[in-house]
Amino acid sequence: MQRSGRCEGPGDLHLHSTHSDGTEPPAQVMAAAHAHGMRTVALTDHDTTSGWAEAADAATSLGMTFVPGMEMSSQHEWRSIHVLAYLFDPDEPRLRAMTDRVRRSRLQRARIMADRIARDYDITWEDIVAQTSTGATVGRPHIADALIARGVVADRGEAFSTILATGGDYYVSLFSPDPVEAVELIVGAGGVAIIAHPAGRAGIPPKRLLTRMLDAGLAGFELGHRENLPAAVATLRALADERDLIVTGSSDYHGLGKPNQPGEHTTSEAMLERLIDRGTGCAPVLP
Ligand code: AMP
Ligand code: FE
Ligand code: FE
Ligand code: ZN
Repeated sequence: MQRSGRCEGPGDLHLHSTHSDGTEPPAQVMAAAHAHGMRTVALTDHDTTSGWAEAADAATSLGMTFVPGMEMSSQHEWRSIHVLAYLFDPDEPRLRAMTDRVRRSRLQRARIMADRIARDYDITWEDIVAQTSTGATVGRPHIADALIARGVVADRGEAFSTILATGGDYYVSLFSPDPVEAVELIVGAGGVAIIAHPAGRAGIPPKRLLTRMLDAGLAGFELGHRENLPAAVATLRALADERDLIVTGSSDYHGLGKPNQPGEHTTSEAMLERLIDRGTGCAPVLP
């Protein structure tokens, strides 16, 4: 195999900044990944690419290879499925229209959740706006941060297990595409689609759905992730081996928003090379 030298050393391909629900701006996220020994990094904010430019500058000036990414929301029946997208064209119209629509839905949904919560707790929409960077993809973590600031809960974890729980009294779902459509949009924009944390508490996506996603061009699974359960990982690893899929490992760092630390799971050099070879919508940014 030809050694290109693009990806020497460990890679972390799942990191969030203040452009979505991380607590640190992109440059600080890249510095954190570098301090944890990473040499290839991606920024994967939810449903947005707005942090790419700052992250690429910071990553490459620290000597790291930058892989542009995004974590796309999707939904199958009751199940939320996050699809990591890499190396796609950020200006491709269909994908862009979809992520714009998801972000608008997230904003409306956050307002409705805020109204519901405000009936029982001392919290306003302005409190939530104050926790959200301008233009960021808004989510329940920003509502959690507003509740923390008001002293209602101690941390995001407590907010999610109580007031913000999926299916709870205050919960409102957001619009997002079917997972197969998400994969089609990513692949249509030249990107590489990988299911994020596919083996978590909700269980593996149904086999029929996985087959349809693979038929649409799904490239692989994020098997290294703290929320994945070992038995389910073994099942997906067997499928990945059988189909020769790409397998990644990453931290899902959210700054202070989660305990996850950069580099707690990593992606091998061989898999980084395969992923970069497969993406055609944009190029990795080299140091
Ligand atoms: P949303 O997409 O707005 O429904 O919110 C889901 C997001 O909240 C995910 O991206 C997670 O990063 C975050 N999240 C979910 N559960 C927790 C938790 N227990 N602690 C902190 N963040 C969480
Ligand atoms: Fe998140
Ligand atoms: Fe996720
Ligand atoms: Zn994530």
